[in-house]
Amino acid sequence: MVISRSIEPIDVSDTQLEKLLESAHLPSLLLALAHDLGDLSILREDLIPDSSPAIRALGGYAPEQAEAARTVALEALKRFRDGGNRLGPDPTDDDLERFLEHMTRGELTPEYVPLLLEELDYPVHDARAPRWRKDELATEREFSAVVIGAGMSGVLAGYRLKQAGIPFTIIEKNEEVGGTWYENTYPGARVDNSNHMYSYSFAQRPDWPYFHSTQKVLHEYFSNCADEFGIRPHVRFNTEVLSADWNDDRAIWEIRVESAEGAEVLEANALIAATGQLNRPKFPDIPGQSTFAGPSFHSARWDHSVDLRGKRVAVVGSGASSSQLAPEIARDVSELLIFQRTPNWYAPVPDYQDAVSPEQLWLFTHVPRYAQWYRFWVFWTSSEGALPSARVDEGWDGQSDSIGKANDEVRLLFTNYLKEELRDRPDLLEKVLPDYPPASKRIVFDNGAWPEMLRRENVTLIADSIAKITSKGVRTDDGEEHEVDVLIYATGFDASHFLTPITIRGREGIDINEQWDGDARAYKGVLVPNFPNFFMMYGPNTNIVVNGSIVYFSECEMVYILSCLELLLRSDRRAIDCRQDSHDRYNEWIDEGNRRMAWGVARVPSWYRNEKGRTAQNWPYTLLEYWQQTHQADANDFELL
Ligand code: NAP
Repeated sequence: MVISRSIEPIDVSDTQLEKLLESAHLPSLLLALAHDLGDLSILREDLIPDSSPAIRALGGYAPEQAEAARTVALEALKRFRDGGNRLGPDPTDDDLERFLEHMTRGELTPEYVPLLLEELDYPVHDARAPRWRKDELATEREFSAVVIGAGMSGVLAGYRLKQAGIPFTIIEKNEEVGGTWYENTYPGARVDNSNHMYSYSFAQRPDWPYFHSTQKVLHEYFSNCADEFGIRPHVRFNTEVLSADWNDDRAIWEIRVESAEGAEVLEANALIAATGQLNRPKFPDIPGQSTFAGPSFHSARWDHSVDLRGKRVAVVGSGASSSQLAPEIARDVSELLIFQRTPNWYAPVPDYQDAVSPEQLWLFTHVPRYAQWYRFWVFWTSSEGALPSARVDEGWDGQSDSIGKANDEVRLLFTNYLKEELRDRPDLLEKVLPDYPPASKRIVFDNGAWPEMLRRENVTLIADSIAKITSKGVRTDDGEEHEVDVLIYATGFDASHFLTPITIRGREGIDINEQWDGDARAYKGVLVPNFPNFFMMYGPNTNIVVNGSIVYFSECEMVYILSCLELLLRSDRRAIDCRQDSHDRYNEWIDEGNRRMAWGVARVPSWYRNEKGRTAQNWPYTLLEYWQQTHQADANDFELL
């Protein structure tokens, strides 16, 4: 079983402890030890982690501070071991505020305590589980749900519905669970978010094999979760949802599905779309694609039957997927041409591809709450703590490639990283150094792999724009034809056309895509007026650019969906619909937030904006604010039908 929560007792010598500490993440370890021993004196003022991005990248402490922290941690570990591995008294709320203050230099306020407790999965296991069951609220009533998709969100939706005692079926077009982590099998695919955080709060693992796990490990995790939570028997695999129609008279969804056995109409009271934003591969609008004579495929539909060894290969696109796959294939191919339209900002993340060392694994699996505090550290440094660097400072008079003081600091850090990595290759540096503010597009993690690949003799980065695809390869605007044997499109996903190709028709037969008219919006990313008992996960404006994990958002969305269902089931009504005025006010607030973020003011292309030019993907506020927005459904926002 992959989901392991067991922590072994500490029984090693002082010398061994000292050795193990060499690789520890010290700020998280000190917090865990203060928590375990119930001893706040461990959180000394001189051991407050540094907040500068450069020191954060080193793990939170400058070298001399790390030395002092290691001494304190060693003493505390010995005490814990010698005390028989007994946990001290539980921290009070005031204590937890102290923990937060220490970790974040007071930047996370006491309002974060309830969120912290949920993320630590402490003291109540699975604090986000529903506290009610359908049978208790509506004993006689029949009420069922259909979930579209058995990816990370769909498995979660199934689990929560199961906990609430609502019968459900998940419709999955693939033969397996896992969604994006099942489909994206390109070489080098891994999560660019620490998976100590990119995992369910109620199924945390102290024993992740990597800090940023590979596709295989993540797929295994979600697959094991589906087994452990008993979700698989509820999934209809190899079945696609074609359309869903709301039947006003009967207050049910009629869901037309198709599989090898033919088409069928399923009925359910509630419909949850867990189809993801990054599911449908997008091919570029470049003419001539069908004329290419050799094999060609999209990164998200990797053709493993094509042997790339010794071949001349072109990769169109240089985004997150390309940055992972190109360095992997560069070693095998005879020639690799990468077509870059817009360069990325790369964040230096030294442990990006590292396995968790045996010493680190030992600490994660022997020090209670260390993995949880590490999770919260990542939550803080890569999410709430990183958000200000994406925010526009009013009146900022910096250059056009930054939008504020914190943004400029990050720009400098990233610029210096590229300059250092490519110090003897000004030709490459000129091509890869972006001239737009960081966070306008997705920042890509790098541990040196991308620049190292660019230096290879068999790799060429082409920054000229593409005129057309020919039978032999790629012709650029300057008229040159770049001949290749294989063509790979790492050109992203059709993200802003939510739900397509599924047709969803709500009250009076209105089609959701006609209602949206190319500009998808939802209330809290979940509800759309005129579509009763219909809920979206990872819907409009729930994507994050610098801050956090989509798993967190999905968990918040399920808390909210169940809260809506609770409202409904406690009433004598059959359906819940979002009020238009609540929806509109909410979307104005979202737009106002996005206009103050790097991605909202950016002039570079990105999948964050839809055909109307509106940022329809991103959440512009803090994770706490999304948690507050979704914690409890407010009856005033709905019409009960
Ligand atoms: P993407 O970020 O949208 O990148 C697509 C690439 O194709 C960009 O370089 C884009 O250039 C280029 N492109 C598109 N149309 C083009 C055209 N007509 N001519 C030339 N180039 C063209 O897609 P992605 O890399 O698949 O990533 C999408 C998202 O998936 C990411 O932002 C991230 O959220 C997620 N993702 C995550 C991971 C991870 O966690 N490890 C890995 C992969 C993806 P422009 O930049 O100029 O548009």
